[in-house]
Amino acid sequence: MITRGDIKEILDRYKSTTIATICSHTALQIFHGAREEGFKTLGICKPELRGFYESFPLAKPDVFVEVEDYSEVLDDAIQKKLRIENAVVIPHGSFVEYVGAENILEKFSVPMFGNREVLEWESDRKKEGRWLNAAGIRMPLVFKKPSDIDRLVMVKFPGAKGGKSYFLARNEDEFHQGIEESGMKGGEYMIQEYVIGTRFYPHYFYSPLTGNTEFLSVDVRYESNIDGMVRVPHIMDNLDPTFVVTGNIPVVVRESLIPKIRDMGSSVVESSEQLFPPGINGPFCIETICTDNLEFVAFEISARIVAGTNLYIHGSPYSQLLYREPMSTGRRISREIKMAMEGGLLERIIY
Ligand code: AMP
Repeated sequence: MITRGDIKEILDRYKSTTIATICSHTALQIFHGAREEGFKTLGICKPELRGFYESFPLAKPDVFVEVEDYSEVLDDAIQKKLRIENAVVIPHGSFVEYVGAENILEKFSVPMFGNREVLEWESDRKKEGRWLNAAGIRMPLVFKKPSDIDRLVMVKFPGAKGGKSYFLARNEDEFHQGIEESGMKGGEYMIQEYVIGTRFYPHYFYSPLTGNTEFLSVDVRYESNIDGMVRVPHIMDNLDPTFVVTGNIPVVVRESLIPKIRDMGSSVVESSEQLFPPGINGPFCIETICTDNLEFVAFEISARIVAGTNLYIHGSPYSQLLYREPMSTGRRISREIKMAMEGGLLERIIY
């Protein structure tokens, strides 16, 4: 396992700081924000995507490290190159997916923004449940066996990309039919209550330097084909909904609900400090559904920057109430690193 001490030793040898990540997910926002804060940037990129990243002059990385496959990030030569460049890696959803939370903890000997231990807590459903429970946040009911199903449920599979094979069932028969059709027979699954309401994906940033949990922005994921189905409600019965994220939609929340959203963020930070000290730092998102009783039910937590923040490169209706300048989550990460450098506190926010 790569320890905090190992990373501190590397950080102590750094002569400057370069903000680095894999060219995918939120990379444009991360590089743009880093440039705004005056950092050099480095993109780990597949050759065929380099031209795309170069086409955005305000967001293209200063340096490219080309790889054929993102798993090469774990190769000794690439890790060494990153350390020579004084890289601090910003983990985003694609980074965690391509490299793997366990590999990051065991094999990735390059400083990363945030607490890398947290990535294990978000990618393991049991741990994620413990965390949200400890934060006092309601989660959808989970049914232990198919015969327990007494309402509409969503059947989820581990590691399913963007909800690809998820299906809905109203009873045990529909469950068995769904398992057959999904091709996931014999594998692991989770039967979760399907919560009807409006989805909100609030984006937070916790800074141990200021002690504040900032509510920076919020989005709704645009999912195919479920979000297309509302256009053909008369034939919906004959269609199988899927939940593949294809985009993000900006949204604001009814103002009287915002205190609840803020409290959820603070509770998640506090419980993380108890469960895996020193706890989470940096960006995170709680994936919620707000019911018509105005209760938030959380079905997931992403303990890193989420793609919905790409909507707000120039700030959101909420970040504008916190900062006088356009503050994206990407820029907020670089601002935090800058503040920590000035205060000699880098090792508190980088592991
Ligand atoms: P997930 O992979 O858990 O992020 O789920 C993918 C998508 O499925 C979400 O963005 C929601 O649209 C939907 N979803 C997940 N869990 C639930 C649930 N318990 N009730 C209703 N919709 C859900």
